[in-house]
Amino acid sequence: MRVTFILRCTVCGEENYLSEKNKKNTPDRLEVKKYCPRCRQQTLHKEKTKK
Ligand SMILES: [Zn+2]
Repeated sequence: MRVTFILRCTVCGEENYLSEKNKKNTPDRLEVKKYCPRCRQQTLHKEKTKK
């Protein structure tokens, strides 16, 4: 049971990363620090599930 989701920068709203996860193993919404090219720094990215 895999779902594709987008990691979205919480600062500027840019959708920077596309990733996959197993919903069974990772039911929670992910929050990761990643580099945002628009902010030009590491920002908090939150999961946005693609339908
Ligand atoms: Zn950003």
